[in-house]
Amino acid sequence: MTLEISKKASRIVQAEIRSMSIECELHNGVNLAQGVCDTEVPFPVRRGAQMAIDEGVNSYTRYDGIGELRQAIARKMKSYNGIDANPDTDIVVSSGSTGSFYAACVSLLNPGDEVILFEPYYGYHVNTLLAVDAVPTYVRMYAPDWTFMAEDLENAVTPRTRGIMVNTPGNPSGKVFTKRELQMIAAFAKKHDLFVFTDEIYEYFLYDGREHISPATIDGMYERTITISGLSKTFSITGWRIGYSVCHEKWAKMIGYVNDLIYVCAPAPLQMGVAKGLDQLGADYYENARKEYAAKRELICSTLDKVGLKPCVPQGAYYVLADVTHLSGNTSKDKAMNILKKTGVASVPDEAFFHEPGDRQFVRFCFAKHDDELNEACNRLLKL
Ligand code: PLP
Repeated sequence: MTLEISKKASRIVQAEIRSMSIECELHNGVNLAQGVCDTEVPFPVRRGAQMAIDEGVNSYTRYDGIGELRQAIARKMKSYNGIDANPDTDIVVSSGSTGSFYAACVSLLNPGDEVILFEPYYGYHVNTLLAVDAVPTYVRMYAPDWTFMAEDLENAVTPRTRGIMVNTPGNPSGKVFTKRELQMIAAFAKKHDLFVFTDEIYEYFLYDGREHISPATIDGMYERTITISGLSKTFSITGWRIGYSVCHEKWAKMIGYVNDLIYVCAPAPLQMGVAKGLDQLGADYYENARKEYAAKRELICSTLDKVGLKPCVPQGAYYVLADVTHLSGNTSKDKAMNILKKTGVASVPDEAFFHEPGDRQFVRFCFAKHDDELNEACNRLLKL
């Protein structure tokens, strides 16, 4: 037989996150590798979806999502992000923020177009770019605060550069981009005429009084910025697949058509559940979530400190990169496997977040876990 997988598919590698989750199961371990937020789904969200099913909201929706949801997103974009988006033209609901980014890439990038990613990066961003034959290029951020300089951006740009990707708060770094940094990126994007893709899925997970700033709110940036987010994390509904992109209508229209082509629509009753959640949950819901996650962050970071795996304390999101330099092993994967074998706690080695073999310095732990599971993981880690 001469049949084989496509050249494009062969460039896409299985996420290290999934392979560590499989190893974790084999070792009967506690899985702090995967970013699954398995805390309780807020009542209005669950109830809204159940009612929608009972009331017959079970068909295909408009290609860019149910009106109620687009309107709810527009209200949230205005009040939380400070972005004025027309719910009829500027918002496309998709199959998670993953689907939103894919639809945006198919719509806006040509084969060979380069997109700059900050590293450590989120692996799906790389694979999505590869899936559309775009070319990821990289700007390194430096621990512990994940800083970068304007020169680093200039060094990464070529005549083929067409976009830059921001992820704030970031996975795996937990970096929350400051206004000054976003202004620097905005000036760079304008100078080189680039799209800014921004993944803001962790926008509500912020610590130490930090503020979420959407790049699209920087002066003159709305027109070239594709703001991508979703409710997977905020409402603990990773399996529902509800995300969205917000951008100027000249891009949103095509992103909507592509979304229709690939996914047809996001699940209709679940769109309704999310709309109800966005409308009915008040500021206290987000504030409580923030406090709950801040306590989890404190627990994991203090445990890592105690066992000598110095944490880069995250500014947002719900992951922590811990320094494993002094552990034995030739690669971070060896080190993550050692931690798993000794303690039964799974983490993700930093091969997943850097494009080149680097210092082999970090593994990532996810702390979006129920308290009893996180306590168990931390007790096990103390064995190190
Ligand atoms: N973006 C980032 C940075 C993530 O870490 C994740 C999940 O881990 C996603 C997107 C996936 O979001 P969604 O469930 O909306 O596709």
